[in-house]
Amino acid sequence: MSLLSIQLYGSPILNSKTAKVETLPPDFSTILDDMFETMYADDGIGLSANQVGIPLSFFVADFSLHDETGRKMVFINPEILEYQGEVAAEEGCLSVPEIREEVIRAEKVKVRYQDVELNVHTEEFSGYYARVVQHETDHLSGIYFVDRISRLKRSFIASKLKRLAGDAKKRLTIQVG
Ligand SMILES: [Zn+2]
Repeated sequence: MSLLSIQLYGSPILNSKTAKVETLPPDFSTILDDMFETMYADDGIGLSANQVGIPLSFFVADFSLHDETGRKMVFINPEILEYQGEVAAEEGCLSVPEIREEVIRAEKVKVRYQDVELNVHTEEFSGYYARVVQHETDHLSGIYFVDRISRLKRSFIASKLKRLAGDAKKRLTIQVG
Protein backbone atom coordinates (compact mmCIF):
# COMPACT_ATOMS: atom_id res chain seq x y z
CA MET A 1 0.00 0.00 0.00
CA SER A 2 1.13 3.53 -0.61
CA LEU A 3 0.00 6.95 0.45
CA LEU A 4 -1.48 9.14 -2.25
CA SER A 5 -0.94 12.86 -2.40
CA ILE A 6 -3.98 14.91 -1.51
CA GLN A 7 -5.07 17.65 -3.88
CA LEU A 8 -5.47 21.03 -2.25
CA TYR A 9 -8.17 23.68 -2.52
CA GLY A 10 -7.88 25.34 -5.92
CA SER A 11 -6.56 22.29 -7.72
CA PRO A 12 -8.46 22.06 -11.07
CA ILE A 13 -9.53 18.45 -10.45
CA LEU A 14 -11.31 19.55 -7.27
CA ASN A 15 -13.11 22.36 -9.05
CA SER A 16 -14.74 20.14 -11.66
CA LYS A 17 -17.45 17.54 -11.75
CA THR A 18 -16.11 13.98 -11.86
CA ALA A 19 -17.06 11.44 -14.54
CA LYS A 20 -19.47 8.58 -13.92
CA VAL A 21 -17.82 5.21 -13.29
CA GLU A 22 -19.01 2.89 -16.09
CA THR A 23 -16.51 0.09 -15.57
CA LEU A 24 -14.15 -0.29 -12.64
CA PRO A 25 -10.66 1.10 -13.28
CA PRO A 26 -7.80 -1.44 -13.40
CA ASP A 27 -6.28 -2.16 -9.98
CA PHE A 28 -9.39 -0.74 -8.34
CA SER A 29 -8.92 -2.67 -5.10
CA THR A 30 -5.35 -1.31 -4.78
CA ILE A 31 -6.64 2.21 -5.41
CA LEU A 32 -9.24 1.73 -2.66
CA ASP A 33 -6.66 0.33 -0.22
CA ASP A 34 -4.40 3.30 -0.91
CA MET A 35 -7.29 5.73 -0.48
CA PHE A 36 -8.27 4.25 2.88
CA GLU A 37 -4.63 4.29 3.97
CA THR A 38 -4.23 7.93 2.91
CA MET A 39 -7.44 8.86 4.68
CA TYR A 40 -6.42 7.14 7.93
CA ALA A 41 -2.96 8.75 7.80
CA ASP A 42 -4.58 12.18 7.70
CA ASP A 43 -7.29 11.41 10.26
CA GLY A 44 -10.10 11.69 7.74
CA ILE A 45 -13.35 9.76 7.81
CA GLY A 46 -14.15 10.15 4.10
CA LEU A 47 -12.09 10.75 0.95
CA SER A 48 -13.25 11.36 -2.61
CA ALA A 49 -11.44 10.09 -5.70
CA ASN A 50 -10.73 13.56 -7.08
CA GLN A 51 -9.05 14.48 -3.77
CA VAL A 52 -6.32 12.02 -4.76
CA GLY A 53 -6.24 13.02 -8.42
CA ILE A 54 -8.69 10.50 -9.89
CA PRO A 55 -11.43 12.29 -11.89
CA LEU A 56 -14.11 9.63 -11.26
CA SER A 57 -17.28 9.63 -9.21
CA PHE A 58 -16.59 7.57 -6.10
CA PHE A 59 -15.54 8.04 -2.51
CA VAL A 60 -14.54 5.94 0.46
CA ALA A 61 -15.67 6.39 4.06
CA ASP A 62 -15.06 4.53 7.28
CA PHE A 63 -17.92 5.16 9.67
CA SER A 64 -16.48 2.72 12.19
CA LEU A 65 -14.08 5.53 13.12
CA HIS A 66 -17.10 7.42 14.40
CA ASP A 67 -18.98 4.64 16.15
CA GLU A 68 -18.73 0.88 16.41
CA THR A 69 -21.89 0.19 14.41
CA GLY A 70 -20.40 2.06 11.45
CA ARG A 71 -19.09 0.29 8.36
CA LYS A 72 -16.18 0.80 6.04
CA MET A 73 -17.85 1.75 2.75
CA VAL A 74 -17.22 2.58 -0.89
CA PHE A 75 -19.79 4.74 -2.70
CA ILE A 76 -19.61 4.60 -6.48
CA ASN A 77 -21.66 7.12 -8.54
CA PRO A 78 -23.47 8.40 -5.43
CA GLU A 79 -26.57 10.47 -5.97
CA ILE A 80 -28.57 12.11 -3.20
CA LEU A 81 -32.25 11.54 -3.92
CA GLU A 82 -33.85 13.15 -0.86
CA TYR A 83 -32.83 15.67 1.80
CA GLN A 84 -34.62 16.00 5.14
CA GLY A 85 -34.21 18.45 8.00
CA GLU A 86 -31.34 20.82 8.70
CA VAL A 87 -28.52 20.70 11.20
CA ALA A 88 -25.39 22.79 11.73
CA ALA A 89 -22.02 21.27 12.61
CA GLU A 90 -18.36 22.12 12.21
CA GLU A 91 -16.51 20.54 9.29
CA GLY A 92 -12.98 20.30 8.07
CA CYS A 93 -11.51 18.88 4.89
CA LEU A 94 -8.21 17.18 4.01
CA SER A 95 -8.04 19.40 0.90
CA VAL A 96 -8.66 22.59 2.90
CA PRO A 97 -6.23 22.17 5.81
CA GLU A 98 -6.39 24.30 8.95
CA ILE A 99 -9.87 25.59 8.23
CA ARG A 100 -12.91 24.48 10.20
CA GLU A 101 -16.30 26.08 9.72
CA GLU A 102 -19.86 25.42 10.69
CA VAL A 103 -21.95 24.14 7.77
CA ILE A 104 -25.70 23.69 7.65
CA ARG A 105 -26.63 20.43 5.96
CA ALA A 106 -29.57 18.05 5.73
CA GLU A 107 -29.98 15.92 8.86
CA LYS A 108 -31.02 12.92 6.80
CA VAL A 109 -30.40 11.92 3.17
CA LYS A 110 -31.50 9.12 0.90
CA VAL A 111 -28.64 8.07 -1.36
CA ARG A 112 -28.42 5.86 -4.40
CA TYR A 113 -24.94 4.44 -4.99
CA GLN A 114 -23.14 1.40 -6.35
CA ASP A 115 -20.87 -0.87 -4.36
CA VAL A 116 -17.54 -2.36 -5.47
CA GLU A 117 -19.41 -4.96 -7.55
CA LEU A 118 -21.44 -2.15 -9.13
CA ASN A 119 -24.64 -3.39 -7.48
CA VAL A 120 -27.07 -0.52 -6.89
CA HIS A 121 -28.23 0.34 -3.38
CA THR A 122 -30.60 2.96 -2.03
CA GLU A 123 -29.96 3.72 1.61
CA GLU A 124 -30.79 6.38 4.18
CA PHE A 125 -28.15 8.01 6.33
CA SER A 126 -28.63 10.45 9.17
CA GLY A 127 -26.60 12.64 11.50
CA TYR A 128 -22.86 12.34 11.16
CA TYR A 129 -23.09 9.73 8.38
CA ALA A 130 -25.39 11.99 6.35
CA ARG A 131 -22.90 14.83 6.75
CA VAL A 132 -19.97 12.78 5.46
CA VAL A 133 -22.03 11.55 2.49
CA GLN A 134 -23.03 15.13 1.61
CA HIS A 135 -19.49 16.48 2.03
CA GLU A 136 -17.96 13.77 -0.21
CA THR A 137 -20.75 13.84 -2.81
CA ASP A 138 -20.19 17.60 -3.02
CA HIS A 139 -16.49 16.99 -3.79
CA LEU A 140 -17.46 14.78 -6.73
CA SER A 141 -19.42 17.74 -8.11
CA GLY A 142 -16.57 20.21 -7.58
CA ILE A 143 -18.05 21.78 -4.43
CA TYR A 144 -16.11 22.48 -1.21
CA PHE A 145 -17.64 22.79 2.26
CA VAL A 146 -16.43 26.40 2.31
CA ASP A 147 -18.74 27.03 -0.69
CA ARG A 148 -21.63 26.33 1.67
CA ILE A 149 -20.84 28.86 4.40
CA SER A 150 -22.08 32.44 4.56
CA ARG A 151 -20.39 35.11 2.47
CA LEU A 152 -19.42 36.93 5.66
CA LYS A 153 -17.71 33.87 7.17
CA ARG A 154 -16.02 33.26 3.86
CA SER A 155 -14.61 36.75 3.81
CA PHE A 156 -12.85 35.97 7.11
CA ILE A 157 -11.00 33.02 5.58
CA ALA A 158 -10.52 34.49 2.10
CA SER A 159 -6.78 35.06 2.52
CA LYS A 160 -6.20 31.51 3.81
CA LEU A 161 -8.11 30.10 0.85
CA LYS A 162 -6.13 32.26 -1.53
CA ARG A 163 -2.89 30.97 -0.05
CA LEU A 164 -4.05 27.35 -0.39
CA ALA A 165 -5.04 27.92 -4.01
CA GLY A 166 -1.57 29.37 -4.59
CA ASP A 167 0.02 26.27 -3.05
CA ALA A 168 -2.15 24.04 -5.25
CA LYS A 169 -0.93 25.90 -8.34
CA LYS A 170 2.71 25.55 -7.29
CA ARG A 171 2.25 21.80 -6.73
CA LEU A 172 0.64 21.47 -10.12
CA THR A 173 3.62 23.18 -11.75
CA ILE A 174 5.99 20.83 -9.98
CA GLN A 175 4.00 17.79 -11.12
CA VAL A 176 3.89 18.94 -14.73
CA GLY A 177 7.45 20.23 -14.90
ZN1 LIG B 1 -13.37 17.36 1.92
